[in-house]
Amino acid sequence: MSIYTSEHLELQRSARKLIESEINPHVDEWEAKGIFPAHEVFRKFGAIGLLGITKPQAFGGLGLDYSFSIAFAEVLGEITCGGVPLAIGVQTDMCTPALARHGSTALRDEFLKPSISGDYVGCIGVSEPSAGSDVSRIKTKARKDGNDYVVDGGKLWITNGTQADWMCMLANTSDGPLHKSKSLIVVPLKSPGVTIAPRLDKLGMRSSDTAQIFFDGVRVPQRNRIGEEGKGFVYQMEQFQEERMWAAASVLRPMDRAVQEAIKYTDARIAFGKRILDNQSVRFRLAELQTKIEMLRALIYRAVQEYVGGNDVTTLASMAKLAAGRSMREVADACLQYYGGMGFMNETPITRLYRDGRVASIGGGADEIMLEIISKRLGMVESSQKA
Ligand SMILES: Cc1cc2nc3c(=O)[nH]c(=O)nc-3n(C[C@H](O)[C@H](O)[C@H](O)COP(=O)(O)OP(=O)(O)OC[C@H]3O[C@@H](n4cnc5c(N)ncnc54)[C@H](O)[C@@H]3O)c2cc1C
Repeated sequence: MSIYTSEHLELQRSARKLIESEINPHVDEWEAKGIFPAHEVFRKFGAIGLLGITKPQAFGGLGLDYSFSIAFAEVLGEITCGGVPLAIGVQTDMCTPALARHGSTALRDEFLKPSISGDYVGCIGVSEPSAGSDVSRIKTKARKDGNDYVVDGGKLWITNGTQADWMCMLANTSDGPLHKSKSLIVVPLKSPGVTIAPRLDKLGMRSSDTAQIFFDGVRVPQRNRIGEEGKGFVYQMEQFQEERMWAAASVLRPMDRAVQEAIKYTDARIAFGKRILDNQSVRFRLAELQTKIEMLRALIYRAVQEYVGGNDVTTLASMAKLAAGRSMREVADACLQYYGGMGFMNETPITRLYRDGRVASIGGGADEIMLEIISKRLGMVESSQKA
């Protein structure tokens, strides 16, 4: 059973129209260049409301519930690379949820509104060279000076990093306990003292620009803080729930496509006088993979329904993210195998999926971090410590 109504399907149709006419024809060129024109593309999605699906109408959003965001994440999987959907997901579900929920009206007017219209590109700055999984140990500091914060430190692997206008940054604003010493701050990236290093060379997600960014005495008005001081860690953990459900939904269509394309290829390819698909082991494996995809889809829809119902989805969102990363790797690897030598040629689309999909088990919390969260939620960590 799907969670989608005719309104969700209508939203997906509008997105699909744009994807087919304005995005997919350019994907190969953007992948080869290692970057896509984020402002140009975001303005197109912004013009039809798709960058503010769940955001308040007062700031240009559509004010819809989270199931619509997931419907969008799913259809973005029809883009023939992972880099462009990732960049859009950062804008809609990773760097803006906390700002929309906890930011002041003035801050939302200044940064959320133009991000919803697509005039601004945003990024999320959590990871640092010495702390990715262990978010509480980040070192970047924002110390108060008059009405400003002065930011010193650096962020690594920042998606949209070379094109972004602003960053939703997690920084230490006091020396207090690790979970109470941090704040989320909107940092304009054209500020003096910000240095953006050349974009990083990656295994996959090649059209998405990823950068290291340094902050040296960067002055940011204190009014750019999102919500209360010291609540940044909590806001970021909240924000991660949407990031993780979005990330899980974004791999569904690419996996569907991998299985469908593998069926087509093995149907047409003859070996030992019969179709490759005539081997029971091959078609059983493809049937099994599609079953796994449907199980993941059901888990994501369940998490989304709970979230829309106002429930805590930390466990379900972590499970969905974990299962998405694992499934994406399994599906891409298994399908690639059935192409034989063609599966190793860059002209075969499965190779891009194989490269792009690998990050699903790393970014936004590695598989092991999801397992740690799920273990804690199931009461295992506490009981093993007592033993
Ligand atoms: C393409 C890409 C885009 C990204 N975009 C962004 C972005 O926009 N913004 C941002 O802030 N970050 C971004 N990241 C960073 C990403 O979120 C981190 O890489 C990720 O959280 C893992 O952190 P780390 O690399 O420091 O790994 P580490 O923390 O060094 O961990 C390394 C590995 O050790 C294992 N491990 C770690 N802790 C445990 C544990 N407790 N138990 C068992 N095993 C463990 C895991 O296998 C993990 O993969 C991006 C990364 C990539 C690759």
